[in-house]
Amino acid sequence: MNIGFIGLGNMGGPMAANLAKAGHNVTGFDTAKVSINGVDIAESATAAVEGADVVITMLPNGDILRSVADQIIPAMRHGATLVDCSTVDVDSARAVAAQAEEAGMLAVDAPVSGGVGGATNGTLTFMAGGSDAAFARAEPLFDIMGQKAVHCGAAGAGQSAKICNNMILGVTMIATCEAFALADKLGLDRQKMFDVVSTSSGYSWSMNAYCPAPGIGPESPADNDYKPGFAADLMLKDLRLSQQAAESADADTPMGQLAQALYARFVEEEDGTGRDFSAMLPRFEKRNREG
Ligand code: NAD
Repeated sequence: MNIGFIGLGNMGGPMAANLAKAGHNVTGFDTAKVSINGVDIAESATAAVEGADVVITMLPNGDILRSVADQIIPAMRHGATLVDCSTVDVDSARAVAAQAEEAGMLAVDAPVSGGVGGATNGTLTFMAGGSDAAFARAEPLFDIMGQKAVHCGAAGAGQSAKICNNMILGVTMIATCEAFALADKLGLDRQKMFDVVSTSSGYSWSMNAYCPAPGIGPESPADNDYKPGFAADLMLKDLRLSQQAAESADADTPMGQLAQALYARFVEEEDGTGRDFSAMLPRFEKRNREG
C-alpha cells in the first residue's frame, strides 16, 4: 500500500517505521526535521499524500489537525482513506471526517493508547470511529501498528471512547493516591493497603497494574522516580478534552472536572510537569487537610 504519514514525532515516527518494516511504501512529512527508518521524507504535507491509498496523521491537537486537513484533503486521491490517530477534541474529529467524506474519501478517527513503548513495539490499542468500509480499510494497518483495534461507532466515537476511558483513569488515579496518603497518616502499612484494596472493591487498573506507591505491586513509574510512563501533562490534555466534550454535549461530569483542576494545578503551578501522572501520590503525601 502507498501510505502518507503526517506527524513523525514520538508516536508517529515509530508507527511509520513499523508500517515501512512491514513492506508498505511510506512517505512522511513533519514540520520538524526528522529521519525515520524506511520512510521517504517529503518536502511538504501535500507531496506526502499525493497518490497515497491511506493517509495517517499523528499530530499534537485539533487545531493543527484541522489546518493539516485543509492542506492535504484537496491533494489526496479520490477514494483514499484518511486515518487520524492523534488525540483531539471530538468536534474536530467529526469536522475533519465530514470534510474528507465530502471530498470523496473515507475517514477514521483512531486515537491510541499504549504510549511510545506501544508505538515502538507495535502493540498499541486503537479506538476507532467511522463507517464500516473505512474501518475495514484501516484495520490491516492497525494490526501492524498495534495489537487491538475496537470499532467504537461512527465518526468521533474513537475520540469519545478514549477521553471517557482517560477521564476514569485520571479520577481513579487521584482517588488511589489520596487513599494511600490517608492510609499513611492513619499508620496503615502501604503493602497491607495494597494487599487489601487490590483484591477488594477498591481495586482498579491504577492500583493493581500501575500502583503509584514505589516498591508495591508490579513495576511501575513509581519505581523509577515517577519518570513517565504516562506524563501528567498528557493526562491534563485528555482531561481537558473530556471536559470540552462534556461542555459541548451538556453532560454533568463533576469528578472529571475536579480531576482536570487538580492535574492543572499539579502541572502548571506545582512540580508535575514532565513527571508521571501517578506522581500525584508524593503530591498528596506532602499536603494536609487545609490544602
Ligand atoms: P509529538 O509532539 O512528539 O509529535 C507531534 C509531531 O507533529 C511533531 O513531530 C511535530 O513537529 C509535528 N507537527 C506539528 N505540526 C505539524 C504540521 N502542521 N504538519 C506536520 N507535522 C506537524 O507528540 P506525540 O507524543 O507523538 O503525540 C502525538 C499525538 O498522539 C498527540 O495527539 C498525543 O496526545 C497522542 N498520544 C500520545 C501518547 C504519548 O505517550 N506520547 C500516547 C497516546 C496518544
